[in-house]
Amino acid sequence: MKNNEIVVRIPPSPTGYFHVGRARTALFNYLFAKKNGGKIVFRIEDTDKERSKREFEEDIVESLKWLGITYDEGPFRQSERNDIYRESIQKMIKNGSAYISEESEGSNKEVVRFKNPGGKIKFEDIIRGEVEMEIDDLKDFIIAKNIDEPLYHLTVVVDDFLMGVTHIIRGDDGISNTPRQILLQEAIGAPRPKYAHVPLILAPDKSKMSARHGAVSLRDFREAGYLPEAIVNFLGLLGFNPGGEREIYKMSELIEVFDLSRVQKGGAVFNTEKLDWINKEHIKLLSEKERNETIKKYLEKNGFKNPNPKIFPIIFEHISKWGDIDKMTREGELDFYFKTPEYETHLLFWKGKEDKETTKKHLNWILEKISTVDFESVESAKNLIFDYATEQGRGEVLWPLRVALSGKEKSPDPFTLLYVLGSVESKKRIENAINKLS
Ligand code: GLU
Repeated sequence: MKNNEIVVRIPPSPTGYFHVGRARTALFNYLFAKKNGGKIVFRIEDTDKERSKREFEEDIVESLKWLGITYDEGPFRQSERNDIYRESIQKMIKNGSAYISEESEGSNKEVVRFKNPGGKIKFEDIIRGEVEMEIDDLKDFIIAKNIDEPLYHLTVVVDDFLMGVTHIIRGDDGISNTPRQILLQEAIGAPRPKYAHVPLILAPDKSKMSARHGAVSLRDFREAGYLPEAIVNFLGLLGFNPGGEREIYKMSELIEVFDLSRVQKGGAVFNTEKLDWINKEHIKLLSEKERNETIKKYLEKNGFKNPNPKIFPIIFEHISKWGDIDKMTREGELDFYFKTPEYETHLLFWKGKEDKETTKKHLNWILEKISTVDFESVESAKNLIFDYATEQGRGEVLWPLRVALSGKEKSPDPFTLLYVLGSVESKKRIENAINKLS
């Protein structure tokens, strides 16, 4: 059902890469509109000529697309709508709600000011309840540098009116703009939209989220290898709780449960561990084929050509986002799958106890044991060796085996390594270790 009465807007200012906070507000607008059969207008608020850049606009468009946030109308660029704003300014001057003011200070000799009636402005906020603000302090605020250079508040109010916006869902940081915008609505005869000011996203230390907290723009998260559906899930539940224990939602399911009036009043803390957990859950929802293809793509990007498909499930277990594969590569955690490990002989000794003969004896036993088989599974590798290890001492047997195969102090268990490397490569590595000990 289309509810022709509900219209929301996504109105970013292209003055930086698309911030998660803005993305979350855009998502709330999207969820609200979709839930209620409303319409979404997309508007680029680029009146600030110095700070607005096409590059940022493109980033915002791309980020919305990546998240799956669509719109019904736009993009409209405010910088291309000057004729419309000029007309409104002229009307306001004519009806006495604005005037051209001679300035003694500032760079402009003449500006257009709004005639502030003073007093108080009261409005209902869907999240905050009733809000009341003094407006005397706003004085006769400037609405345009001149007739052809409108300022932010004016353009927002004119556009919201002409685009039929019924609900303004925006960040809490916009609440101080509301009284000015209500005054302008009244001056141009626009109906008052409903307001919902969404509390900001806070960093774990409860301060405003900024670049020093790591990833803050959508492109950062994209580059870190998060799934867009996980970002949507995470942002959708940031400051909104549909009730119950459930935490994993697809976009369509978020739409179903979304309720603006249940958005919480306090700031929502951005928890990266939670995001990673949600991301992992969404990776689990992918088909095995899709998962393996992406892991392969990331391995190849990291210089590992033709990776052995046996390592895909192991990598899957160790990551929460695709970018973790980059990190594992950087930290050398994947090298031993692809090349003969190099390590100090001493590492082969269990608990550092230099016992060449026993270590060699165990490795030789294993070497003989595996020379006749190929492993079908991790289990089959384990079955071959485990009883012997239990009898002889697990650490004494399995530690040198694991080091011989990986060259590392930490790695997956030796059975997994045997299975992944296969008997030919494993034998080579064990022989290597025995040579080192001789
Ligand atoms: N262009 C504003 C911003 O990106 C939007 C504020 C509003 O929603 O009114 O901050």
